[in-house]
Amino acid sequence: MKTNSLSRHSVTGTRFRLLPQAPYITLGTEPETVWISTPAGETLPGPADARAYVVDPIDKPLPYGGRLMPPFRGPVHAPALPDAEGHFDYLPVDSREFRAAHMFAAVRFTLDVWEAYFGHRIDWHFSSHFERLELITFLDWDNAHSGFGFIEAGYGRCNNGNGKRYSLNFDVMAHEVGHSIIFATVGTPPNGTIWTDDYRSFHESASDLIALLSALHLDSVLHRLLDSTKGNLYRYNELGRFGELSNTEQIRLACNDVKMSDLHGLGDHGRSLPLTGAVFDFLVEMFQTNLVEQRLLRPEVASLSHDVRCSLSAENFIQAEFAGAFLDHPVEFRQALERARDHVGLFLVRTWQQLSPGQLDHRMIAAAMLEAEASMGGRYLAELADCLQWRELLPDSSSVLHDRAFPVPILVESSAHQ
Ligand SMILES: [Zn+2]
Repeated sequence: MKTNSLSRHSVTGTRFRLLPQAPYITLGTEPETVWISTPAGETLPGPADARAYVVDPIDKPLPYGGRLMPPFRGPVHAPALPDAEGHFDYLPVDSREFRAAHMFAAVRFTLDVWEAYFGHRIDWHFSSHFERLELITFLDWDNAHSGFGFIEAGYGRCNNGNGKRYSLNFDVMAHEVGHSIIFATVGTPPNGTIWTDDYRSFHESASDLIALLSALHLDSVLHRLLDSTKGNLYRYNELGRFGELSNTEQIRLACNDVKMSDLHGLGDHGRSLPLTGAVFDFLVEMFQTNLVEQRLLRPEVASLSHDVRCSLSAENFIQAEFAGAFLDHPVEFRQALERARDHVGLFLVRTWQQLSPGQLDHRMIAAAMLEAEASMGGRYLAELADCLQWRELLPDSSSVLHDRAFPVPILVESSAHQ
């Protein structure tokens, strides 16, 4: 698998520590040691490397936008320094320097994951203007955003009054650099183009999926996810929970039951839910198919679990079946999930490579997804079509596809399930 390159970084890269869940979401969360691809010794104080650099302003009252653009020229705090071997994983979690290192590591880790899936370096879409991505660790603004040459992480307060720094939220940082990855790979709409609602919601969905799959490269996330669900991933769990706490504090769910016909009145984030949910369902279907094919899970249990999607009241019978199977084969469960994760990563790359920026609509995206899966051999094409159809992302959404009678011609030609 392409992402084996991540483990190679443990030989040559730089060590950091990442929080798999922001401390203001999950108290007491422990950081996990990760490696980024930049060799120790080449990750400089800041941190900084050839792709990104951290700026920790003493005072930045306004976010970038309009005529306010990088680089930041005001006074800054002292940078985080590497240890004698060139690593940053020694920094105390409650230090200012840790926050700088955390933001940098979250962004660079995510970029490493997706460069491995793409199979090549991803050049920034702003590279004609700025050589590197500027990472602003703090400004007095209750939000986080990415733009032309920068990501900024603000600060807010939870309902209980506790502070929340978005630089410490891996999901938020991965989502924001996800936008940059999509701009770099799908392209930027030409100047003057009006962005359609579908294009905006595609961007949000793609960025969420980039964050979701990147989080699944964290050992602690994989471990806790499987341990808490026993592999019954349609149950609500942290995989489907996203941390982009915007100024409306909207927490979106990848594990959702939103269909296209439910979108009336929703904004970009809300409109992204069916697409994100379809890919999440596809991931779970593939994972369960892997388990069934290895005779680790009975096919009737996998089928039943579909009927309780995201329900907290999943039947005890189903959960007990998953729990028993997981207890017997925890390593195989993890490997099955990693295979599904990496298939989805490559599948998304092939999907995005077919799209052009700007004038997208959800049916074009769904068609590209079917084409992508077909180009990878089409083994999971029927499952994918089911997921898209259930979300009403394909034409003739009134059809029920349990008999695999989906109406898209390409499927009939390519499906391994025919
Ligand atoms: Zn976003």
